Amino acid sequence: MTEAFVGLGSNIGEPATQLRRACNALTALPDTRLVAVSSFYESQPMGPSDQPPFLNACAHIETTIDPNELLTALLAIETTMGRVRKRHWGERCIDLDLLFCGDTSVESERLTLPHPGLYQRDFVLKPLAELLGNEYLMPNGLDIGTLLAGCSTHDLKLSSDQLCNGEIPGNPL
Ligand code: ATP
Ligand code: CA
Ligand code: CA
Repeated sequence: MTEAFVGLGSNIGEPATQLRRACNALTALPDTRLVAVSSFYESQPMGPSDQPPFLNACAHIETTIDPNELLTALLAIETTMGRVRKRHWGERCIDLDLLFCGDTSVESERLTLPHPGLYQRDFVLKPLAELLGNEYLMPNGLDIGTLLAGCSTHDLKLSSDQLCNGEIPGNPL
């Protein structure tokens, strides 16, 4: 069983609804359990600034699916949810990044693990800190709090939208 973390992001098509739909899709993955989902955070776009703010969250899953298959499954969820790639770091109804899978390290054409942006992005590290604590040591040996202190800011704000208790059947969220 691997402990894996997925970064979720959306900035079009009712982002909170999109994050909830994506969490539901994660619960439907085979041989996988959704352990926890962070709060939702509003953030300013990392890419082009002429796009709406993002809503970001992180999900903790336990899975026996191998990382390559997990990436395939995440990309399939994006496609099913109607994601269209228009411009680099542009608007999207859903983005699912595989942040890390235990201490697995991968460098292939289609998958890099840990995710290349993991240690620099406050909109990823802040929700992760909520799930793991600031003292948690990331795969590079640095704790989340230290990494967060070194990030440039995307003006994160805790959103009033959340994954509601009991929203995902069978999950004690
Ligand atoms: P970024 O990866 O900088 O957050 P992005 O999420 O906008 O940018 P996408 O267009 O969603 O990038 O993904 C481009 C490709 O990245 C995917 O098709 C996938 O093959 C590849 N990729 C490599 N490593 C990962 C990973 N750890 N998680 C998700 N996608 C990955
Ligand atoms: Ca991304
Ligand atoms: Ca992505």
